[in-house]
Amino acid sequence: MYVIGFLLILSNMDTLQVVCYNMFGFNNGFSALNDLCTTGDIIVVEEHWLAPYNLDKLLNFHPSFEGFCWSAMCDKVHNGILKGRPFGGLGILVKKNLDLSVSVLGVMPNCRCAALKCVFPTGYTVILIAVYFPHMGVSGDYVVELSECLGFIDHCLHSSNYHDVIILGDMNFDCKVNSVGFKMFNSLCDDFSLNRADKYCGSDINYTYMQETTNNNSVIDHIFVSQNLSTSAKKYFAFDNIVNLSDHLPIGCDLLLDCRLKYILPSREKQCRYKRRWDKADLAKYYSNTYELLSMVTVPHVLLQQKCDVFQCAHWKDINEYYNAIVSALSLSMDGCVPLCNEHVFRSFWDSDLSDLKQASLDANSLWLLCDKPRSGVVNRIRLTAKYKYKRALKQAMLREDQDLDDEISNLYMQKDMNQFWQKWNSKFSNKHSSPSVINGVSGDRVIADIFCDNFSGVYFDSYKDDSLLVDFMEKLHCKLSKEYESNCFLGSTLFDVVDIEASLNCLKNGKASGPDGLTKENMIYAHPSIIIHLKLLFNMICVHGFVPDNFGHSVTVPVVKDKTKDMYSADNYRPIALSPIISKIFEYCIFNKYKHLFVSDNLQFGFKKKP
Ligand SMILES: [Zn+2]
Repeated sequence: MYVIGFLLILSNMDTLQVVCYNMFGFNNGFSALNDLCTTGDIIVVEEHWLAPYNLDKLLNFHPSFEGFCWSAMCDKVHNGILKGRPFGGLGILVKKNLDLSVSVLGVMPNCRCAALKCVFPTGYTVILIAVYFPHMGVSGDYVVELSECLGFIDHCLHSSNYHDVIILGDMNFDCKVNSVGFKMFNSLCDDFSLNRADKYCGSDINYTYMQETTNNNSVIDHIFVSQNLSTSAKKYFAFDNIVNLSDHLPIGCDLLLDCRLKYILPSREKQCRYKRRWDKADLAKYYSNTYELLSMVTVPHVLLQQKCDVFQCAHWKDINEYYNAIVSALSLSMDGCVPLCNEHVFRSFWDSDLSDLKQASLDANSLWLLCDKPRSGVVNRIRLTAKYKYKRALKQAMLREDQDLDDEISNLYMQKDMNQFWQKWNSKFSNKHSSPSVINGVSGDRVIADIFCDNFSGVYFDSYKDDSLLVDFMEKLHCKLSKEYESNCFLGSTLFDVVDIEASLNCLKNGKASGPDGLTKENMIYAHPSIIIHLKLLFNMICVHGFVPDNFGHSVTVPVVKDKTKDMYSADNYRPIALSPIISKIFEYCIFNKYKHLFVSDNLQFGFKKKP
């Protein structure tokens, strides 16, 4: 994942790629949209056909993108049972590392147009208008309907300040002088000095819409940009080298924006939430990898053989190194046997068969491109067959996933297992993943992270700052230790046994988020048992030398909403949850299990306590 992120940044350093794509339904378009997310910066989609309650599929489509989307089916859904072909819907995905401050200028009630104002960190401001213009039918409504769209755009452009304008989407007309729609749109273009981007850089787009059955094709998807961008438009093109199940081709435009852009460096890419899929892992390989790598970790045995004056300990470096060696042995063991997937993009229905079919379709498409896109003959047939096989398998897999979940939910309900029932129900229907893109009135990941940082820093308390408590603690410790040394009953080096480690491991839950080192409980239970020995030795060393590895103090803090019915856009409604390294948690449970009789909490505290 880091490599992909890194390449992206390098190739896109000063170029903004805007893309538009008529999905022809979310299910048809999702595979191509996934691919578009690897190069695109701003992606406009039309015709996702999603109902309002399904919009989160697009809102959270990709962890590197912030989603804005609108359903054109609100009225239909409210008016009873869905029938006929669902239609329309707009969405805009904006790459998070652009660090844009985005505000919605407006959306037409029929969802034909939506306008965003995007302010770059440099102050450079672009109005982005996504369109799905009506189709020229037989009735006279077309002119009225298109006029409404143009009126909306005119209003948006007149009522805000900006440097540039980009209007893109499925316009449903060819840019030919005899087209009524184009004539009408053209007069708006004149008013605001807009041109189709290929005017400045040329293109070899032959069609953007193709009906495979009738071979009808036309160029009806367009990207228009303002005059200022004339020298920036470097490439105007259609994506014909990806597997595309829609009848429209995605089209894109590369705009060289130089200093108007300011990318945040790649560290952002690393912070995407990625998850190890242990359910898809090769556990035997992981086991043998850990056996091999853990046996190569050098144990600093000497640290256990000597007593140490913890006030003058000179072994911190050795303990840090030993801990880091264990962590990296476990991390490296996962390579190639525990798949790493980002939480949103990985669909649980995805399997190797689908990957094979997708690849076959991609190969057939490449062959077809090499043969200069023949519209008939063997090569074209191979391409279409491969594409439909993939399309059918994808559809069935999606359907199967939905049905399985439905069955599971009904079964849980019948078994009256209410906890599990609501858990499943919420996993399907609640928008718990959608985190608002605006907090305390500002947008942009970095700014929002700073707000949370300020807010949460009050929760942390540096115990070293309380001098009197520290002195008191050190005195007690000194006194206790010197007594133990005198009586020779210091047990540090054998304090914990393998049984203690196993018992602590059992206190932890599976499937939890990892700490900053990427390790979870699964890393321990599926590893070769030598890990338990290593942990036993490490924990005893910690006790002998009175020092925990520095990395025990590293954690990832995640804001978690306190009350969903209250203001989701206010930082005050979030509490910090720290994700600590798993080995530090095992160590804490070891201490706790051994000394819990000494830990007393107030009788009036009810949270975080074992039920009696
Ligand atoms: Zn020491």
